[in-house]
Amino acid sequence: MKIRVLGGAREVGGSCIAVETENCKVALDYGIKLDGVTDEYPKNFDAVIISHAHLDHSGSLLRLTKVRKKQTIVGSRITRDITIDLLKDMIKIQNEKAGIVAFDDQAANTVRDSWLTAETLSLTDMNVTMYPAGHVAGAKMLGVSSEGKTVIYTGDFCIHDTEILEGCNINLLPREPELLISESTYGGKVRPPRDELTRKFLVEVSGTMKRWGNILIPTFAFHRSQEMAKRIDRAMQEGVLPNYNAYVISKLGSKVTTHFNAYKQLFTKEISQQEKPFDYKYVKYIERTSEIEEPAIVVCTSGFGHAGASLSLLELWAEGEENTVILTSGFLPADSPLRFAKEKRWFRAVEGDKIPVHAKIVTIELSGHADQIELIELVTKLKPKKTVLVHGDLPQADALSEKISQLTEVCIPEKNETIIV
Ligand SMILES: [Zn+2]
Repeated sequence: MKIRVLGGAREVGGSCIAVETENCKVALDYGIKLDGVTDEYPKNFDAVIISHAHLDHSGSLLRLTKVRKKQTIVGSRITRDITIDLLKDMIKIQNEKAGIVAFDDQAANTVRDSWLTAETLSLTDMNVTMYPAGHVAGAKMLGVSSEGKTVIYTGDFCIHDTEILEGCNINLLPREPELLISESTYGGKVRPPRDELTRKFLVEVSGTMKRWGNILIPTFAFHRSQEMAKRIDRAMQEGVLPNYNAYVISKLGSKVTTHFNAYKQLFTKEISQQEKPFDYKYVKYIERTSEIEEPAIVVCTSGFGHAGASLSLLELWAEGEENTVILTSGFLPADSPLRFAKEKRWFRAVEGDKIPVHAKIVTIELSGHADQIELIELVTKLKPKKTVLVHGDLPQADALSEKISQLTEVCIPEKNETIIV
């Protein structure tokens, strides 16, 4: 097998890996970069296999199906449905920004029509198998085998369970693969246990509620917003948090939530036994910030505070020292209002005014990625002959490489580098 890293080399974003045998060629993921730039990947694949719906793994599919009408795309059913929603949302945002129609909803529908909802694939001299990856609803690791040799691609994964989703089960994966292609987002980072982080989250929330402050939680529409809303709803039901005005503002999030209810069997046992687990008792979906009754706790998009309800509420609540902003992602782009608010204690409003920040800003990283300990655990258990690190900035990949180099041969490829198995 010839493996070529087409994207996501020494960076997070634009994941795409080509695997080629004598008779066939597939792409594992077909993503877009975090800043929305699409790379020009080759388009001559027998099949394109999508590990999960995040756009950095699926966002370039629009370009692909535009030129290749008969493309086979393979992935799980929920990944298909959510990818289509995310693509349509991306099309809307990009068209508004550019003032032109580069793609329309029909383009996303073409992706849908090309999609084969399968979890295994057999080609002439290659077989692909999918394994649950944790991370987000529907996420898969991909095992590619040919002539008795196996390559495992982790996509994005997480070993520990979260409140709504079980982590990946390493025991299901084939042992001693020729090659492991692993993400390394947090290759240099060890995170506190999840229980500790959720406890810290609830302490911050209840502390703010005691002083009747507002709580702003900017987050992503897919998975994080549902996980957060479920956490708050459950804490109110169990009396861990008082009954407080609680909202989610995200049209896209609300759409994704319908898929979560429809595919509830993909979540933890407890969740899958509930009738409509993501119809909350205390947390309401609303469309506009004007519907909020203060004081309130609000989960909303965008995740980086660039636009939408996150930005309007940040403008509204930043100056009140009784308020709290909870950031759940460690990564914030340099130009994001939330990064400014956190580091400089001021940010620029849409109108251009400089707004000082007196509200408390806390970061509690409730991430869906494996940290360094989990990444090492995967390598230790699988015992791959060789490990290729992708989907991580170079310092993160380097730190992980140092830790696993006794266990496996390690390579941190550059873009377009080829590895032969
Ligand atoms: Zn992801």
